[in-house]
Amino acid sequence: MIFLDNASTTKMFESAAGQYKKYACQLFYNPSAFYRPAREVKNALDEARKCLLERLGAKQGQIVFTSGATESNNLAIMGSRRNGKWEYVFSMGEHPSVFNVAKELERQGCVVHYLPLQNNGEVDYDALEKVVNEKTRLVCVMHVSNETGALNDIKKVSKIVKSKSKALLHVDGVQAFNKIVFSIDELGADSYTISAHKFHGPKGVGALYVRNPNLLKSIVFGGGQENDLRSGTENVPGIMAMKDACEKINVSENFEKVQKLKNILCNILQKDENVKIVESLSPYILSMSYRGVNGETLARALQDEDVLVSTGSACSTKKAGNRILESMGIRKEDVVSSIRISFNAYITEAEVEEAGRKILSCAQKIHLLKI
Ligand code: PMP
Repeated sequence: MIFLDNASTTKMFESAAGQYKKYACQLFYNPSAFYRPAREVKNALDEARKCLLERLGAKQGQIVFTSGATESNNLAIMGSRRNGKWEYVFSMGEHPSVFNVAKELERQGCVVHYLPLQNNGEVDYDALEKVVNEKTRLVCVMHVSNETGALNDIKKVSKIVKSKSKALLHVDGVQAFNKIVFSIDELGADSYTISAHKFHGPKGVGALYVRNPNLLKSIVFGGGQENDLRSGTENVPGIMAMKDACEKINVSENFEKVQKLKNILCNILQKDENVKIVESLSPYILSMSYRGVNGETLARALQDEDVLVSTGSACSTKKAGNRILESMGIRKEDVVSSIRISFNAYITEAEVEEAGRKILSCAQKIHLLKI
């Protein structure tokens, strides 16, 4: 099986699974307890925080452990909400775990603005400049699009936001963290979401980085864990497995490898003039369409050839993929034909070549059958 749906999830590293087992079966203590072995677990959690802060390139700020990116995004948005006539700004490219929170804010009577996307999938920076003002409370622009691999210029976004308002900038970094080299301090984001299962850690665990925890309010109330920002006993095995996965990844080395894999695939696919590729800066994600061939039909045919790809974001409805591609101005026919191919650094070149040949042969067969 050639797994090319790594934007939806990745295989956990064996070493991460080892850490999971260690903290589930041996060092299973509650980190909030007073006795010595529990203190040891608490210290281990603090080491995991340090590890994430270091990988983020953060000299200040706090890591709040969560159940994954969906919760981190909800916490960043709902936790920064304040009473009064505040406005909220979201890009049209956001994942449903951000976009549907924006819709909820609207339902609750908040003023919400949506930023269109440019043809290359990046947010429209001019539109951002026009909409941000002193009433803006929060701006959400994701780092890398899970649909297209488009990379937003967060530094530019933060400069615009900070020059026109006192608003907070939240960035969903799920498809960027441990995949592209950056420093959060340089980006200028106030909060940043990460999810372990997108970088070979376990599912159901993630974190929210917050530059200034005093500006965030909890949305889950209970025992006051995580500095009162996220009550509930921490998922220690998951967090320690996430730390292990993080330590195992060499971001720039993997980037080079994946860039090469993407180039190999693009070269094969572009031999057929019916193939249309959405150019994007993240090498981890490739969105393509084959003219006249339905994306879902193609993905199903590829499954029969042992190649797994997605027709869009796996954790969203098809509508979400459409929202994003359509707001980039991609024609309806091409949206219906689109598939998403997403890599990890451990796939071989031979596997990518085989997948490329199969994508073309399946698409050509379907195309012929239709004519
Ligand atoms: N944001 C983005 C950009 C994603 O790609 C995903 C996963 N598809 C999520 C958020 C949600 O992540 P999780 O499964 O950890 O809730």
